[in-house]
Amino acid sequence: MHVLLCEDDDLIASGIVAGLNAQGLTVDHVATAAAARAMVRVAHFDVMVLDLGLPDEDGLKLLRDLRQNGLQLPVLILTARDSVTDRVAGLQSGADDYLLKPFDLRELSARLHTLIRRVAGRSVNLIVHGSLSYDPSSRETLLAGRVVDLSRREQSLLHALLHSRARVLSSDQLKDSVYGVGDEVESNALNVHIFNLRRKLGATIVETVRGVGYRLGPADAANTSPGSPP
Ligand code: CA
Repeated sequence: MHVLLCEDDDLIASGIVAGLNAQGLTVDHVATAAAARAMVRVAHFDVMVLDLGLPDEDGLKLLRDLRQNGLQLPVLILTARDSVTDRVAGLQSGADDYLLKPFDLRELSARLHTLIRRVAGRSVNLIVHGSLSYDPSSRETLLAGRVVDLSRREQSLLHALLHSRARVLSSDQLKDSVYGVGDEVESNALNVHIFNLRRKLGATIVETVRGVGYRLGPADAANTSPGSPP
């Protein structure tokens, strides 16, 4: 899952980036509203964390503009403004949730997982797909009740596929959920991760849709052909 963090306080931002990375989330950090506007044009994000006090523009104005331009991703606002009026203004501007500063990183992470889950229409955190289950909070992957060891990138890729269900995702969309915008990505990196997922979870877990991209394989086939053990 790919998080866009818009926060001009470096100390707060680096804490959030480190905390969310440790939770397996890919985070891109920008410090101005202008940079956030540019970022949503070049990459796909699953959720946005938005500070309201930005140096170049009010965060609420940014949010209203993004919503007017059709941006649909869930947005959690971070604010030191704690009056009821400010909170209502935030929600009316298109925010999905808010957190008052100072906050606990675990709470931020839990709220983000809830937002992502709500967008996917799930009421519980655990994603079940046939005999495969994945918990986005603990990042535990179980296949037929057994723990499967996945790398951080493999977890992100699996989460993106499970999240989108039957929808076909292009290579670029998948790369966006696994890598930050500034990350160096080798040209075959995505293929390597997909190869590993198929080896660990069964060949049918990822379907190639020729010329378009990839999608999650059918649930009943998810565990029928786990590749030979490493
Ligand atoms: Ca600020």
